[in-house]
Amino acid sequence: MSQPVSAIKKNDSVIVLTGRDAGKRGRVLRVVPDKGRVIVEGVNFIKRHTRPNPQRNIKGGIVEREASVNSSNVQLVCPECGARTRIGRRRLDDGRSVRYCVKCKGVVDK
Ligand SMILES: [Zn+2]
Repeated sequence: MSQPVSAIKKNDSVIVLTGRDAGKRGRVLRVVPDKGRVIVEGVNFIKRHTRPNPQRNIKGGIVEREASVNSSNVQLVCPECGARTRIGRRRLDDGRSVRYCVKCKGVVDK
């Protein structure tokens, strides 16, 4: 069974549905399509311990950064109606394929 391609794109505003950060909103910083994962600003922070490496001028310490989350655990926040929503696709008169909000039918891609 193949996983459907996530309709979430970079710079989308999304809300987290499950896990430690459930209910948080953020902007999508990066999409990892092969793995079906996304990195969302301010969501799923992990601490990474880094060893100092003087030869490469790397200081040791703890770095906090976002880790990816499964894209099925986030949902788009519609820029038109503000609701969290599923995404549909439709073709415009000019032939462009755009994403739309299934709730208000507003076009997500401008
Ligand atoms: Zn909408």
